[in-house]
Amino acid sequence: MISYKYPIFPNKATLQKLAEALDACRWLHNKLLERMNDAIEMGIKLRTYDTQNMIPSLKLENPKLNLVYSKVLQMVNYTLWSSIKGLSASKKNGRNVGHIRFKGYGWYKTMNYNQSGFRLDQDHGLLHLSKIGDIRIKMHRKIKGCIKATLIKREGRQWFAIVQADQEPEPLPETGKSIGLDVGLKSFVVDTDGNSVENPRVAEKSADKVANAQRKLARTESGSNNRQKIKEQINKIHARVNHQRDDFLHKLSRIYVNNYDNICVEDLDVKGLKEKGRNQGMHRGIHDASWSKFLFMLSYKAESAGRKLIKVDPRDTTQRCSACGSIVKKELSDRVHECPYCGFSCDRDYNASRNIFLAGMEQPVAPIEQKPLHHVSVTQVLAMKWEAVPFRAR
Ligand SMILES: [Zn+2]
Repeated sequence: MISYKYPIFPNKATLQKLAEALDACRWLHNKLLERMNDAIEMGIKLRTYDTQNMIPSLKLENPKLNLVYSKVLQMVNYTLWSSIKGLSASKKNGRNVGHIRFKGYGWYKTMNYNQSGFRLDQDHGLLHLSKIGDIRIKMHRKIKGCIKATLIKREGRQWFAIVQADQEPEPLPETGKSIGLDVGLKSFVVDTDGNSVENPRVAEKSADKVANAQRKLARTESGSNNRQKIKEQINKIHARVNHQRDDFLHKLSRIYVNNYDNICVEDLDVKGLKEKGRNQGMHRGIHDASWSKFLFMLSYKAESAGRKLIKVDPRDTTQRCSACGSIVKKELSDRVHECPYCGFSCDRDYNASRNIFLAGMEQPVAPIEQKPLHHVSVTQVLAMKWEAVPFRAR
């Protein structure tokens, strides 16, 4: 299942209806939660369908529920139950999580049209929602698979449709080529073709702007217009950063999937990202998230294109010499692999990418001709066309 997020532009009338519908969902969420708490106090065990069966009578208590498509109301119940289940699961794991909250005005932000109640007209950029009406939708990418659900989400003053669809496979012609990728902090990716792709530092570049805005925010009074304005500024910066990074990750993963039959990567779940240099500065979390996202994009794009994404055990991919197989110990700061046993010397991450490739393709270590890495900038990746060719011919 793939999610696509598109901005939608409700007019005055549909905006009013969306706001009313969301608030009715909020009311239902609170009401069901209240009923659940009451039941616990009285020692009654409720199940999902018990609370679902309460909805018709609650419509009599609050006729505004009739403004919402019935399946959406059921999803309010379903979402509440799944967050409770998530809560009890993580409690069992000993994590400290808060209770499910009653939501104040404006704090219910998502409506879930599951399977029915919506119609997407991709040619005319219109989204029809039952009980709401037609809303203009800006689709930068068309959906090919079968559409399963549409979530309507409010983020500040902006509205989005998150459309979930099954991916329809579109096999690509074989290229006869395979590649190994090493993701890292210094370069985002180093591959066995000798490309070193620059790390996107979009978030870091705008970190100053965010910090500035947050200082301003701290000086404003709560509830003031000015505060609201600054909050929106911050949201905008975050949205732009996310968009740019996603664009980069989409294009980079697309380039690899289009050009290689087999793509070998480390299984980072196993490694826990440890050798990648944990705790290296405040932006670490961002990189971890980008890597996971990149691997996720690679995996679904590969699947739909009929390519193989091969995940290998990350043990010793950095330490082993990819030319002779000896273990050559390195610190995080050692950027160069220099093998005292066979004399092979190259970029540390390039050596790792070769080990990942050899493990994935089940090939023995072998000497290789040394050549300098080819630097690929973020700008170059962003400028890539969809049907991109490799960074450089071999
Ligand atoms: Zn060696």
